[in-house]
Amino acid sequence: MSDETNGKTPPAANPFGGFSMTLIDDGADASSTATGGPASIVGAGGSVDAKVVIIGSGPAGLTAAIYASRANLEPVVLAGSAPGGQLMLTSDVENYPGFEDGIQGPDLMAAMRAQAERFGSKIFDVDIDRVDFSARPFRIWARGTEYRAQAVIIATGASALWLGLESETRLRGRGVSACATCDGFFFKDREIAVIGGGDTALEEATYLTRFATKVHLLHRRDTFRASKIMVDRAHEHEKIQIHTNTAVAEVTGDNKVDGLRLTDTETGEERHLPVDGVFIAIGYRPNTEAFRDWLDVDEKGYLVVHDETGSKIDGVFIAGDVHDHRYRQAVTAAADGCKAAIDAERWLESEGITEAASASAW
Ligand code: NAP
Repeated sequence: MSDETNGKTPPAANPFGGFSMTLIDDGADASSTATGGPASIVGAGGSVDAKVVIIGSGPAGLTAAIYASRANLEPVVLAGSAPGGQLMLTSDVENYPGFEDGIQGPDLMAAMRAQAERFGSKIFDVDIDRVDFSARPFRIWARGTEYRAQAVIIATGASALWLGLESETRLRGRGVSACATCDGFFFKDREIAVIGGGDTALEEATYLTRFATKVHLLHRRDTFRASKIMVDRAHEHEKIQIHTNTAVAEVTGDNKVDGLRLTDTETGEERHLPVDGVFIAIGYRPNTEAFRDWLDVDEKGYLVVHDETGSKIDGVFIAGDVHDHRYRQAVTAAADGCKAAIDAERWLESEGITEAASASAW
């Protein structure tokens, strides 16, 4: 998974802290077993063999890990250096079933991770460098270690997009952010702006009213992609002012943000809006770079799935936002992870790599 949660600082209190595993060179034989392993874990530069390697640790990856570990597949999860996926950068999650009063994104991910580990998933907080899916075992390299897998589940998700302005890059961390949960606190009693017209922007704008005196929501069109309830809530909120047909031409300020140079997208008229901070919430890009030589991507760069969770390579499965630009919900990603683990298990069984799972495994 690329670290293209780009520039997003993980929340200060990282519930994943201390979970990283250190690979120990125990001199064990690193060769594959007949069943695919996991046979050995050796030091950096060594190798790890597994029946299933799951790449990614958002709701899709961790749900796949829960299901795969409960089916005794002893999955290895390559979680990325910023584990937990997009929910780590989210505040209140109010639509994940089972939490009547909502739950904080990082808390939900910490619980999923603990659940996966409880059933024996081995989780490594490393980014993958490259893969070789030309033959089985499939090979994946991450931080100097080669991971060999009989089946792979790709659940690398998607990362936040930026506007692409020089001033935005220059002032990132100095008032420019893409993570309301991480950085909202720094804007207590300040006036700020949120860019975007989708659910993320509306959600972040509402969340940021906890801290800011005023939140300007800037959207380049006059109709919203966001759900009606979110737009209505923002319209009704006394601290939120919505500016439609408004584009950001420049983030102003020398060492820290002091405002935005805005353009009216209908008239071309320019104006300056003084704010202390700006949150970019304009959507995502799928994390598919490592797989493009091996798997098909669609016109938006998302992986193409066949038959629910399959790819064009037998034994390589796909789950979650890395292929889904339609629903992109934690609950749909989790469901995808479940399906991918079940499909991987059945495929391993059909290949004679594992024995049939007990009926109660799922
Ligand atoms: P999105 O729906 O793709 O919306 C992105 C917004 O950013 C659009 O309004 C777009 O404008 C604007 N935008 C894109 N590029 C821009 C640019 N260069 N300059 C200015 N504006 C730009 O993305 P999202 O809001 O992140 O949501 C993604 C998915 O996650 C959606 O399916 C959403 O429902 C889901 N989601 C759900 C929840 C929830 O249910 N709690 C929360 C967050 C996200 P245009 O409209 O003009 O293209």
